[in-house]
Amino acid sequence: MPGPSSQPTVMRAMRLRKPGAALDACELPVPVPGRGQLLVRVGACGGCRTDLHVVDGELAQAKLPIVPGHEIVGEIAQMGAGCVGFARGDRVGVPWLGWTCGACEYCRSGRENLCERARFTGYTIDGGYAQFALADSRYCFHLPAQYDDCEAAPLLCAGLIGYRALRLAGEARRIGIYGFGAAAHIVAQVARHEGRTVFAFTRPGDAQAQAFAGELGAQWAGDSDKPAPEPLDAALIFAPVGSLVPAALANTAKGGTVVCAGIHMSDVPSFPYELLWGERQIRSVANLTVADGREFLALAPKVPVRTRVVPYALDQANEALAALRTGRVTGAAVLRIA
Ligand SMILES: [Zn+2]
Ligand SMILES: [Zn+2]
Repeated sequence: MPGPSSQPTVMRAMRLRKPGAALDACELPVPVPGRGQLLVRVGACGGCRTDLHVVDGELAQAKLPIVPGHEIVGEIAQMGAGCVGFARGDRVGVPWLGWTCGACEYCRSGRENLCERARFTGYTIDGGYAQFALADSRYCFHLPAQYDDCEAAPLLCAGLIGYRALRLAGEARRIGIYGFGAAAHIVAQVARHEGRTVFAFTRPGDAQAQAFAGELGAQWAGDSDKPAPEPLDAALIFAPVGSLVPAALANTAKGGTVVCAGIHMSDVPSFPYELLWGERQIRSVANLTVADGREFLALAPKVPVRTRVVPYALDQANEALAALRTGRVTGAAVLRIA
């Protein structure tokens, strides 16, 4: 194994300087891990809808300039002091939740996903659209061996957030999934594994996404502006489109839940109270907990979840984001970096 002296000191990265602009290809110094931090040589980094919200300036707290990317898979190249449970050379996954305070009411009650001072990979901490990334070891995960780096990347946000959204739907048997992208293609497999029935709602006329949903075991796939063939017990909304909330409620049985899984959504239009009546609920999912990550990464190989990835090179990050934006990606877009 090469010694630390063989470590490059400069790395290639794709960086956002200001919202609304394209990412710039640049060279940056390879960061040095501090106490508790891992320096990860990035093998692959997934592209997520949230990256588009950062690039578009729809999330107000972004550190600028910022290296996006929060589905990082790579190998530990160097470790700061005090990293427990990891060794140099281990493969790790770095998720969206990058740091929490440990002291606020949320952190103290096992809800660090809601931490008041949380920091996020690829948003307020430089992420994985680069050859190296720093990560706080307490939020990193070991990854199941049967996935290669590209296949594992989408598990780290699409998979995790999808899993948390499904958990918040409770025991719902008939699950509607709105927006059939990276998260949906994973959560559909988990839902089927748990014996649930999946109904997929895509952009109107998106025959390719509907066929893909069928391949993944959806009982029905159709346009999101059409009624469901039968009432849903829960709906998971992954598309950032507020008008889907009343549409999903209208398809949901009494006592059912509509879970909004994205970090940003266009305004929800007003709707008659009758749609909510009957003990229906609307709720959101925010971020992930470390426990979610461990649970989901243990479950994924048992399902087994198979991820469909569309690989891009690091310097094609702008193309990958453009493809995500227009819904042209079947499955998950992933930057293959190493
Ligand atoms: Zn906190
Ligand atoms: Zn994400």
